[in-house]
Amino acid sequence: MADAEPTSPHHCDVAIFGGGVAGLWLLASLRHAGWDAVLFESGRVGEGQTRHAQGIIHGGTKYALAGKLTASSEAIAAMPARWRASLAGEAWPDLTGVRVLSTHQYLWSTRSPGSRLAGFFASRLMRGRTHRLDPQDYPEAFRHADFRGQIYALDEPVIDTASLLDRLAALSPGCIHHYAADSLRFDDATHFELRLRSGEARRYSARRVVFAAGAGNAELLARAGREGPAMQLRPLKMVMARGQLPGDLFAHCLGASVNPRLTITSHRDAAGEVVWYLGGQLAEEGVARSDGAQIDHARAELRAVLPWLSLDGVEWATLDIDRAEPRQARGRRPDDAFVAEEDGILTVWPTKLALAPRAADQLMSLLAGAGLAPRGQAGGRGEQHETCDGGAVDRAPLPWQEEQRWK
Ligand SMILES: Cc1cc2nc3c(=O)[nH]c(=O)nc-3n(C[C@H](O)[C@H](O)[C@H](O)COP(=O)(O)OP(=O)(O)OC[C@H]3O[C@@H](n4cnc5c(N)ncnc54)[C@H](O)[C@@H]3O)c2cc1C
Repeated sequence: MADAEPTSPHHCDVAIFGGGVAGLWLLASLRHAGWDAVLFESGRVGEGQTRHAQGIIHGGTKYALAGKLTASSEAIAAMPARWRASLAGEAWPDLTGVRVLSTHQYLWSTRSPGSRLAGFFASRLMRGRTHRLDPQDYPEAFRHADFRGQIYALDEPVIDTASLLDRLAALSPGCIHHYAADSLRFDDATHFELRLRSGEARRYSARRVVFAAGAGNAELLARAGREGPAMQLRPLKMVMARGQLPGDLFAHCLGASVNPRLTITSHRDAAGEVVWYLGGQLAEEGVARSDGAQIDHARAELRAVLPWLSLDGVEWATLDIDRAEPRQARGRRPDDAFVAEEDGILTVWPTKLALAPRAADQLMSLLAGAGLAPRGQAGGRGEQHETCDGGAVDRAPLPWQEEQRWK
């Protein structure tokens, strides 16, 4: 595999594979609790789903729209407060400095009967988590005489995922290693060797191994000789629109179904120009369309729901990306974080950025439930803990800041 044979093993408590929000949040949480944890990333940090996320810290809108509140919807309802505490530096991980793009996510209904009904459910079932805006508080995009709908402010902040990734990585200095994915060989569940980006071959012995590699989990499980847990991919075709657009729009447009017809978040490209990132039903149904047809559809949707908005001179691009999740019956979307352990390997899919804290909590409970304690607390075993000798972290840019995507 590498230039030189690996020498004696590096020992660690937990070896995490995957540097998206799940792996990084877990790394920071474990290290804070005294675990000797280390993370291996095969590409650039954030490269998978995390940098493509809209950054909404969901509080369970969709469950409310479906007209039911379940145990897992109550769990997700707790996430905005959990994140806000971290963002304020009052809880670990300390996310001071992460950019909050908006303190609220908005929900707006158009004049269609289905849309008004969903707005009614949202207002009734999410009492305390939503409030109806007075017209003077409307975001710029709705300040028009022709707007006849209603706008609710949801208790869901929207964050900049690049600053989140940078902050989380900075909380575990030296503990993130870039390595070559094809060099990874498992002797058994917790003993493996790999080649670092520097070319150095290393052998590791961990007490537990965590796969938090999003869509990469399936391959990692296969490398470790495992057949499950099974994964599903849900493809999305997102749309980016760049130009003279209002820069403060973070909103779901309610349609007749449980899923928002359109979800819009606002960002800036490398030159500071406003980019609207469009998801929701548009992106789910858009996978059946060509890029050109999807852009035509997005333009038509914006014309339908914000008819007074000028789209002159707006540039368009599509972005194909899969959501990676534990397999569900009939490919349904899971509504909670997923963590499962089998013989020393833990597999994690947070299923939402917002649920990364819950995934980390669940994983740490499983470690405690297995009778494990951080090495330091267990009195140490006299092994060397030189695991955090990693170099600089390479973080992937946000998609709308990659100029080649606009060509
Ligand atoms: C378009 C889109 C919009 C979304 N918007 C939101 C939102 O607004 N709010 C929300 O809560 N959720 C949102 N999500 C969901 C959210 O982005 C994901 O649930 C979350 O980012 C998953 O994080 P992760 O760390 O598990 O995986 P990922 O972010 O996919 O990270 C996996 C990492 O593992 C690395 N990797 C892959 N293979 C290997 C390997 N063999 N070894 C080591 N590393 C490997 C990858 O390079 C990557 O860095 C959105 C998802 C998409 C696709």
